Amino acid sequence: RQAMSRIKRLTALEILDSRGRPTVAATCELASGASASASVPSGASTGHAEARELRDGDPKRYRGLGCRRAVANIIDVIAPKLVSLELADQAELDRMLIACDGTHNKSKLGSNAILAVSLAFARATASERGVPLYRHFADMFGSSVSGMPQLTVNLFSGGKHAGGQVPIQDVLVVPVAAKTIDEGLAIIFDVYQTAAELTHSKYGARALKADEGGLAPPFPDIESMLGDAVAAIRLAGYEAGTQVALAVDVAASHFYRDQRYHLGLKALSSSQMIDQIDGWCSAYPIISVEDGLAEDDWDAWPHLTERLTGRAITLGDDLLCTNPVRISRAIESRSANALLLKVNQIGTLTEALAALRLAISARWHVTISARSGETEDHWLADLAVGWGAHQIKVGSITQSERLSKYNRLLQIEAEI
Ligand code: PGA
Ligand code: ZN
Repeated sequence: RQAMSRIKRLTALEILDSRGRPTVAATCELASGASASASVPSGASTGHAEARELRDGDPKRYRGLGCRRAVANIIDVIAPKLVSLELADQAELDRMLIACDGTHNKSKLGSNAILAVSLAFARATASERGVPLYRHFADMFGSSVSGMPQLTVNLFSGGKHAGGQVPIQDVLVVPVAAKTIDEGLAIIFDVYQTAAELTHSKYGARALKADEGGLAPPFPDIESMLGDAVAAIRLAGYEAGTQVALAVDVAASHFYRDQRYHLGLKALSSSQMIDQIDGWCSAYPIISVEDGLAEDDWDAWPHLTERLTGRAITLGDDLLCTNPVRISRAIESRSANALLLKVNQIGTLTEALAALRLAISARWHVTISARSGETEDHWLADLAVGWGAHQIKVGSITQSERLSKYNRLLQIEAEI
């Protein structure tokens, strides 16, 4: 049991994320003297059921994306309510934040304001207890630190992260045979470099990089994207499937219109889309399919899950939005069997923990994920280890906002 903590000072600052857009950082100072800061990420291919970030909406400043109001909410609304209170634990802090906002989707104070405080408090209390953050998260979850998550690393991007040159969002590589993070990263490096050379020779110009650092050459179609990933694995000297497998984030909500999946020139029905995904899983070594269907295509999801069971996990991102209500519905209807957990989709650590518990109780697989807009903060690595995620998804192995998480995983691995 954690001792009571008292917040002495709570401040906040607008900082910039990896797309150069504003986001929120909060600093929490406890009466014991422990103090810590944390910053929040931001998505681009967001689900409609996500908690709402508060943006200033002033078109003259950062095209309306400023976070000054969210920062002011921490300083002027949240801090006066929390400072000097004795808080038993994270759950009590988060309950107060939720009550202070009062809306179902955190639209009043902003999920960006609320999560920054939730995270800064977690880090400050870990420091107060004198334990590393991953251990603090493990204690919060009620488990011990049992190992490292498997890496799932962005290789190729399309969709909203890459200007839509192909409709699907990400092809990721998974070093399934690697026993450590250290070994996994070295393998991924080989595959990424080989893929960069391969796509350069096939498509000419040096491939552009997408939001998460994935390569984004002008693939003529999805099959070329998947085929080039397999070719890169083999050319790098690995066996595709047994040593390095693939995962895909189809992000299907973003090309679903009028009950049809618009894949290039094709406009597929839900059952045709399921056949399409089935075909990809037969032709390529895919072990995980994220958002294969649109976020509200609830009738079709159980069929997708049934079709893929035993071959690939059916991972829900926009479908679930880390929201316990949507996860419960998906468990009951067998709509998925894996949770993509993004804390900022729901807005507090405590609610994200409830989402995790639900998934675990249904024996689901859990992938803890970063967002396409990230900061150099690396609490996500601690969270994935502390909460015992099966996999972690952070983006590519380029760009410091991604590397900070991989480097933190290396540190934790060395420590434990
Ligand atoms: P986002 O993308 O952060 O832009 O939502 C990540 C994902 O879809 O998994
Ligand atoms: Zn996704």
